[in-house]
Amino acid sequence: MASIGLDLDGVCYNFIRAMNTFILERHPELAEHILDLDDDSEWSWYKKWGWVDDQFVLAMQSACASRKLWWKGDCYEPDLRESIQGLRKAGHTIHVVTNRGYIPRASDATHEWIYEHLGWVETITLAKSKTDVYHNYFVEDDLANYDALVHNGTRALLINRKYNQRDDNRYRYDTVADAAKYIHWREDGE
Ligand SMILES: [Mg+2]
Repeated sequence: MASIGLDLDGVCYNFIRAMNTFILERHPELAEHILDLDDDSEWSWYKKWGWVDDQFVLAMQSACASRKLWWKGDCYEPDLRESIQGLRKAGHTIHVVTNRGYIPRASDATHEWIYEHLGWVETITLAKSKTDVYHNYFVEDDLANYDALVHNGTRALLINRKYNQRDDNRYRYDTVADAAKYIHWREDGE
């Protein structure tokens, strides 16, 4: 039985859409920059309209405090629960590790969202490092995290987004459902 690490932002949770929606409400003057709520061509996309990181983090704090970020909705895939619970039914364990700990109330929001959209998981950790605890597999969207996981001996599975496209041989999947299928195939012979 395998332990499976799972990232949220950019993997399960459409962070870009949630933040764009919130920022447009607060800053309608940015409408000319935010033409597509789901534009994932860059992870630090707010820099295109002249924002710096601190400004964006403040917006994240307000978004989370007003329950517009991380509490509700914005799943990339409607059937995330089936993908995750299918792995658990096969005997594997799911460990969410997400770099949200620097935002107040992120932990409450994350727990609520997970139980609503993923169902029960074994552990939920708010941490920047994805390698502090070893997992057999880890589903991730960030290239630096992916490389650190591979270095750690983890079978890392990268979810394709426009911002992480490189000409490389990383293990890539379009969806969490596809990554789950791969794990079933390797571990359960399905
Ligand atoms: Mg991520």
